[in-house]
Amino acid sequence: MKKVMIDMDNVLTDTDFFEIIEEYVGEKIDFDNVGFYLQDVLGDKKEDFFNKFKYMNLYKKSTLLPDCYEVLKKLNEHYEIYICTDYVWKEIKEFAGDNLKNKYEFLYRELDFINPKNFIFACNKSLINCDIKIDDKIENILDAKTKILFTAYHNKKISDKELKDKEIIRVNNWNELGNLLLEEYVNNRKKILLKKI
Ligand SMILES: [Mg+2]
Repeated sequence: MKKVMIDMDNVLTDTDFFEIIEEYVGEKIDFDNVGFYLQDVLGDKKEDFFNKFKYMNLYKKSTLLPDCYEVLKKLNEHYEIYICTDYVWKEIKEFAGDNLKNKYEFLYRELDFINPKNFIFACNKSLINCDIKIDDKIENILDAKTKILFTAYHNKKISDKELKDKEIIRVNNWNELGNLLLEEYVNNRKKILLKKI
C-alpha cells in the first residue's frame, strides 16, 4: 500500500482562526491577500492579540471541509493514510502543547476510521517518508514522488507554470483529490496485474 501524508489546517479543515481574527479586528478581512500566517494582518496589534487569545482552541467549532469524510474514508481502503500537522505557534511557543491537544481531539472526533497512531505532530514534514504528500504549503510536499497542492487562501496565486516546473498537481477540493488518487490507485493496480501476465 502506498503511504499518503495529509496536512490538517486548510486541507482537512479551515479552522476557526479566520473568525477569531475578524472578531478581534471587528471587520471582514480579505485573507487571500494576507499571506500564509493570518496573524500577520494584525501588524503591531499582534502581541495584544496573542495575550488575549493564547488559550484559543481553533478547532472548537470547526468541521471537516465538504466531502472530506466520505472521500478520505474511501481512500483509506486503498492507501495507508497519515495525518501530519505542525502545532507550534511562532509567536507563543509556550502554548504549543494546548494547540497539539486541540488538534488531536479534533482529529480523534472527526476521523473515527483512522487509527490515532497515524496522527503525526511534526514541524518539519520532510522527516516523514511518504509516497504521496498533500498540503497547502509547497515546501511540505517537495520531497514526495507525488506532490499535491491543496488550494487555500494563500496559494491561489501560484502559477500553473511554477506548479508544472515543480511537478506539483493542484486540487481545489476533496472530490478532485478523491478522483485523482482513486484513478492513480486503479492505474497502479492495472500496471501490477499487467506485469504478472
Ligand atoms: Mg496547512
